[in-house]
Amino acid sequence: MIPFNNFKLHYQDLKPGMDKAFTRVMDSGWYVLGKEVEAFENEFARYLNVKYCVGVASGTEAITLALMANNIGEGDEVITTNVTAFPTITGIVQAGAKPVVVDVFKESGLIDFTKIVSKINKKTKGIVPVHLYGQSCDMAGIMEVAKQHNLCVIEDCAQATGATYKNKKCGTIGNCGAFSFYPTKNLGAYGDAGAVATNDEATYNKLLSLRNYGQTERYYHDFNGINSRLDELQAAILREKLPFLEHWNKKRGQIASHYKEQLKGVTFLKENEYGQSVYHLFIIKTTDRDHLLKYLKANGVAALIHYPVPIHKQKAFLYQKDEIFTESEIFTSNILSLPIYPELSEKDLQKIVTIINEYEL
Ligand SMILES: *Cc1c(COP(=O)(O)O)cnc(C)c1O
Repeated sequence: MIPFNNFKLHYQDLKPGMDKAFTRVMDSGWYVLGKEVEAFENEFARYLNVKYCVGVASGTEAITLALMANNIGEGDEVITTNVTAFPTITGIVQAGAKPVVVDVFKESGLIDFTKIVSKINKKTKGIVPVHLYGQSCDMAGIMEVAKQHNLCVIEDCAQATGATYKNKKCGTIGNCGAFSFYPTKNLGAYGDAGAVATNDEATYNKLLSLRNYGQTERYYHDFNGINSRLDELQAAILREKLPFLEHWNKKRGQIASHYKEQLKGVTFLKENEYGQSVYHLFIIKTTDRDHLLKYLKANGVAALIHYPVPIHKQKAFLYQKDEIFTESEIFTSNILSLPIYPELSEKDLQKIVTIINEYEL
């Protein structure tokens, strides 16, 4: 079986650096919010070319905290996309706000920003665009709507660490960027971890308190926060891995190019002319998706669907049940994700291509 990810291989290459990081943290006697976290925050901010970065416990909470830091919560509405990982919604709900979804562009599966305006009312406070699969959203269109209606923009960058929009990194264009370092992401920790990036000093200071139950000064609390701290081990691990991120993203790009050159009979997502994807996932589209998925499994290729249903059809999502989202519905019934990770061997890649191309016969 060719697996969908191979974390053991990934770790093998990194073991010496990881051992060093582990020993450094264990010997330090300090395990939560310390020197490693601070150093990672600075290094990641420098990588993104953003002023501030705050390490938090997960990508979901990065979204929650970014909203809270911008005073978005109870009674407010936040507009996002109908095709995303459910934690985008969890992050918004956790902040106390109501998520409102809009349809996607059929070529990319990214939020159709022209649909945002029709959802704006007095309660609307923010937009959470999701840079899905590693592709950047059309930020010019989104920022224009946000500016006209005075809305806060929190970029969900969980799948897009290192992706660019024009000459900027995703996550540095809106008010905040929310990142996930869950092990499967392009920059993954060995546990849960996340970060919020921002250029605004007041937002940064608020985030520092909010992630640490609202503490402003030791044992003094001016508002309520949550416990969403990054631990020293994960921060040290991320510091060891960050220098390889560009290399890994490039490898993903090479695998994606290979798929696009070699695969026959399937459709690919359209490349955006305005940005560089980091190919968190490699998506193919075919009207024969369910059969192809079965065939791949039977032939030893792990494939998955990201995501099989649009948000408005999830039981946990209580709104917009009667609305029709034509593109989301077609898109989610035609997509299939193929293995794509830096350690995927040329042999396995070629095998996947051959198996799919034989399916058409
Ligand atoms: C993974 C992911 C998240 C959540 O990140 P966690 O670190 O798992 O909490 C949010 N949004 C998207 C689009 C994701 O892919």
